Amino acid sequence: MSDTVFADRLRTAMASRGLKQVDLIHMASDQGVKLGKSQLSQYLSGKTVPRRDMLAFLSNALGADLEPAFAEQQEAPMRTFEKSSKLDHVSYDVRGPVLDEAMRMEENGVHILKLNIGNPAPFGFRTPDEVVQDMASQLTETEGYSDSKGLFSARKAIMQYDQLKGIPGVQMNDIYTGNGVSELISLIMQAMVDNGDEILVPSPDYPLWTACVTLAGGHAVHYICDEQAGWLPDIADIRSKVTAATKAIVIINPNNPTGALYPREVLEEIVEVARAHQLIILADEIYDRLVMDGEEHVSVASLAPDLFCITLNGLSKSHMIAGWRIGWMSISGNKRAGRGLIEGIDMMSNMRLCSNVPAQSIVQTALGGHQSVKSYVVPAGRVCRQRDFVYDRLSQIDGVHMVKPKAAFYIFSRLDPKKFNIHDDDQFALDLLQDKKVLIVPGKGFNWETPGYFRIVYLPRRAVLGEALDKLEDFLHYYRQ
Ligand code: PLP
Repeated sequence: MSDTVFADRLRTAMASRGLKQVDLIHMASDQGVKLGKSQLSQYLSGKTVPRRDMLAFLSNALGADLEPAFAEQQEAPMRTFEKSSKLDHVSYDVRGPVLDEAMRMEENGVHILKLNIGNPAPFGFRTPDEVVQDMASQLTETEGYSDSKGLFSARKAIMQYDQLKGIPGVQMNDIYTGNGVSELISLIMQAMVDNGDEILVPSPDYPLWTACVTLAGGHAVHYICDEQAGWLPDIADIRSKVTAATKAIVIINPNNPTGALYPREVLEEIVEVARAHQLIILADEIYDRLVMDGEEHVSVASLAPDLFCITLNGLSKSHMIAGWRIGWMSISGNKRAGRGLIEGIDMMSNMRLCSNVPAQSIVQTALGGHQSVKSYVVPAGRVCRQRDFVYDRLSQIDGVHMVKPKAAFYIFSRLDPKKFNIHDDDQFALDLLQDKKVLIVPGKGFNWETPGYFRIVYLPRRAVLGEALDKLEDFLHYYRQ
């Protein structure tokens, strides 16, 4: 309500009781209510309306119900709150609008076949018993904060793991545990990126990298991973995209979403470019133990002892404990060059106090001794068999093309543009979801610009994969854009 409407009501009530301003002021003073002459004048001239307690006094004194005025006053337009403008150009569509629609459908009782998220536990990949038991037995000892970088036992085990991977010169102080690699990606970017810095990020990528660069004020400059070359990074493209503002290069190996594993020679070429331009190397190697076909994973930091490198890894994928939130990063190579940055990383690490301590307590158990993940990736293992099944089954669908993944648990496929004419990835994913109740992630979600690509997670059991792929094939018989 406007203040003038209230003023009219007040004047009418005073006139009908034959009261002047001075009378009201006296009445207020008699009742111990502070009401000044200028204050009352403001109410009468419509400049302002009284607060709730004053309104109650005036209503009482005048025997008139002035409350509605207050209620109407409360109906002023609601102040609303938007997301910060820092998020304007940030996207993370792996969990975007298509997933929102799937959740809405599920709430309405529709059963969805989900091939969208690399979360092993719901698909029956269990944490090794020994790991669960060790966490249980240490729970009461892990109630407090730990050192901000992490428990000694965890960092020692990580250090030894890095030694086995040939990552040079990693000391205990160079290791930071995090609530998953995710937290550390964000932490690094906040510590490292100034407004306008350029960070080379693969395309397609795991989109958190692009999102965190952008949120930190930097520009993610995407270098192409070439489908024709088995999704390996295109070195010429990397070279062409380095500018004076380039600070670092992100390497995701093994790769999500393509499942590519980079050979040593390709890594050496990337290191050469990084060396020529003194770039920081950021290596996301979270899938390094999920490698098939007898291939070996090479840590890029092992090839770059003279560069400042940060290698990220964790237990979410290889040990199937994504929900416990434990990852880590190791700084190696030319630490002198990154002395100031390390100060920033330490600050960020201290500010978040520490990572989840119960999860840190099982790192030593998980990294040592028998590695159950190995049984999944041998030819008769579940991950390998499911990979072969999905690859063979997709290959039988007319107009679907893909590179056989060598690692992780994703396959990134292309729909023949001549046949399907896909120009809107999200629409394709939504139409598939609505028609066939199958959930995949469109290629656009991985910062891959060419439309007509999608990622399937092949963690679900073979029967589920088979059902989903039958439905996909049926859908592709009639679907065109
Ligand atoms: N890096 C890559 C390449 C991933 O695919 C994922 C998760 O899917 C992560 C990092 C995040 O892992 P974490 O569970 O350790 O946060």
